[in-house]
Amino acid sequence: MAGEQLRYDGQTVVVTGAGGGLGRAYALFFASRGANVVVNDLGGSFKGEGGGNKAADTVVNEITSAGGKAVANYDSVENGDKIIETAIKAFGRIDVLINNAGILRDISFKNMKDQDWDLIMKVHVEGAYKCARAAWPHFRKQKYGRVINTASAAGLFGSFGQCNYSAAKLSQVGFTETLAKEGLKYNIICNVIAPIAASRMTATVMPPEVLDALKPEWVVPLVAVLVHKSNDSETGSIFEVGGGHVAKLRWERSKGALLRADDSFTPGALLKKWDDVGNFAADASYPTGPANFLELLEDAQKLPPNPP
Ligand code: NAD
Repeated sequence: MAGEQLRYDGQTVVVTGAGGGLGRAYALFFASRGANVVVNDLGGSFKGEGGGNKAADTVVNEITSAGGKAVANYDSVENGDKIIETAIKAFGRIDVLINNAGILRDISFKNMKDQDWDLIMKVHVEGAYKCARAAWPHFRKQKYGRVINTASAAGLFGSFGQCNYSAAKLSQVGFTETLAKEGLKYNIICNVIAPIAASRMTATVMPPEVLDALKPEWVVPLVAVLVHKSNDSETGSIFEVGGGHVAKLRWERSKGALLRADDSFTPGALLKKWDDVGNFAADASYPTGPANFLELLEDAQKLPPNPP
């Protein structure tokens, strides 16, 4: 594939939140490479207030006036079934789902209201779920599907004033890892990205010179590669992408402390081995599943009783 232009002719790509920012960049790209695009956008403010058709319509007009194929959908991602229905009605199929729609309700944990928490969960967690849920039967039936979910550095590392958003965004990692495992035998490939790009979401928190270096278009190549039909093995992965940098993240497990599991396994005994718990220098591993506890338990039982 190297050197060739990746194309998506005859495929249908659904992009949620495609009325601006990253979603618009994805939509324009896939349409320019031959795909039929569903441009979904509720059209509200970045805090999730209001709505309207203009955002989605503008992007559809941009695509069609350049000779591409696109239809608009104005539903909230909470009604994912309607968004997928738009794809099926307009184009007869869905091949790629890009769960991108998002809002912010930044506020310190101390001052957070239930409404700030609930709305973030609805859009990011329930929204991605509802869209994937509606697309899944089509993907399974045709033994083909590509999904991108959107996390955030805030979710991976935490971010002051964003505990609702952080919780919602990290959920996309676990969601993706499980979808990747369940989808593999049906050629459904699922990955999650933590992007960074200039958009109305970041315009208020970053200075103009930084925003200039973070074009949404520079997130597109990674997404394009991951959802292309030539990618049949990169799945369940976490990527950080922005400003021309693309990197992969993974879990790291320390070798850890092993204690004999009997009455001598006390908090004091654990404290004595505390340095081993967080020691990544020796024999750390990069797991894609839980530790083999039965094997470890067997090893632990061979140890002498833990020192008091
Ligand atoms: P953006 O505000 O420009 O775009 C988000 C779009 O989603 C908007 O057009 C909005 O109208 C739409 N939307 C919001 N709620 C919706 C709903 N319920 N249903 C349908 N559409 C809805 O922001 P962006 O920066 O392009 O963000 C895109 C995604 O990337 C989001 O999920 C965001 O959390 C994530 N993200 C962005 C950055 C960044 O640096 N820009 C960083 C980390 C994560």
